[in-house]
Amino acid sequence: MIVVLKGGASERQIGDLTAWLKGLRVEARLVKGEQSAILGLVGDTTSVDIELLQAMDIVESVKRIQEPYKNANRKFHPDDTVIDVSGVKLGGSHFQIIAGPCSVESPEQICEVARRVKAAGATMLRGGAFKPRTSPYAFQGLRAEGMEMLLEAKRVTGMPIVTEIMNLSHLSLFEQVDVIQVGARNMQNFEMLKELGGTQKPILLKRGLANTMEELLMSAEYIMAGGNKNVILCERGIRTFETYTRNTLDISAVPLLKELSHLPVVVDPSHATGIARMVRPMSLASVAAGADALIIEVHNDPANALCDGAQSLTPDAFDALAKDIAPLLPLVGKTL
Ligand code: PEP
Ligand code: MN
Repeated sequence: MIVVLKGGASERQIGDLTAWLKGLRVEARLVKGEQSAILGLVGDTTSVDIELLQAMDIVESVKRIQEPYKNANRKFHPDDTVIDVSGVKLGGSHFQIIAGPCSVESPEQICEVARRVKAAGATMLRGGAFKPRTSPYAFQGLRAEGMEMLLEAKRVTGMPIVTEIMNLSHLSLFEQVDVIQVGARNMQNFEMLKELGGTQKPILLKRGLANTMEELLMSAEYIMAGGNKNVILCERGIRTFETYTRNTLDISAVPLLKELSHLPVVVDPSHATGIARMVRPMSLASVAAGADALIIEVHNDPANALCDGAQSLTPDAFDALAKDIAPLLPLVGKTL
C-alpha cells in the first residue's frame, strides 16, 4: 500500500501516523521528495482501514498494490483449484453441468427431472427446498420435506445435489447435501459465511445482485479464512438499468474471476436472463468465456412450475443444449 502525503505534512504528523501504523504491525517507509512525500507500507496491511487512512489530514491519497483477499487470490495459488464434489471433479479441466428445477415441488417432479437431466448429461442435480422469494405470499419451498425429496432423487440417480441454505439454524438438514448454495441475497451474510467456513462442504457462492468482483472474492475469503477451501464462485447476472432481462449476465466476470482467483467459476444463465430461450446462447457464451460449469434450471412442466417457470428449460431443450455444449469443451481445454 502506498500513502501519498500532503505537501504541508510536518515531521511530527508523519511520526504520529508511522507510530499508529506500527501499532497495526505495519512498517511505514518514508520516501521524501522535493514537493511531497510518500509512505510505503510493508507487512500485512489487511488490518489497515483504507477509508480511515484516506480521511486523515495529512493524507493526499492511498493506493493499494495488493488485493485484500489472500486465500482466494491466484497470486498465492497459481494452479486452478479442483473441487471434489462427492467424486465429481469441478475446476481445472473438469467441466460439469448442474441442472434441475428451481424448486423441489413433489417426489415425482424432482425424480422425473433428475432422471431426465442425468440422461441428457447433467452431472449434478439442483433444486431448492428453501426458496428466497421477493414476495412473502409466493411459494416458499417445501423446506425440510423438500430436502427429503431431493435426497430421495440423489439416492435414485446417484447424482450429487446442490441446494440453497437460507438460515444457519437449518444446517443440520444439509448433512447429506453435496454442495451448499449461498444465494445472491446472502452473499454478504457474513455470519453465515463464517459458519460455513467451519465446515468442509463445497460451497456454491452466488454473486449478489449488486456486488463487485472484489466483494464476491471477499465473501469467498470469509469462507476460506475459516478453513473451508472448497468454494465455487457463481456469476448469476447483476442488476442494471436493463429491464428486458431479469438481470444482466456479466460474461466478463468469468475471465476476470479466473484471472484474479484460482477458484472454479460457474455461470447461471437461467437467473441471469430469466428467459428460457436466452439460456442456450448464454450457456454457449459462458463455456466459450472459460466457465468451469453451468447451473441450469430445468422443469418437466415449465408452464405450471411453482417458481421460475419462464426461465426453465424443458428436459428436451436441456438435452439439445447439452449436445451443443459437448463439442465446445475441447476448444476450451475441458472435458465433461
Ligand atoms: C436459485 O438458484 O434458485 C436462486 C434463487 O438463485 P439466486 O440466489 O442467484 O437468485
Ligand atoms: Mn430459480
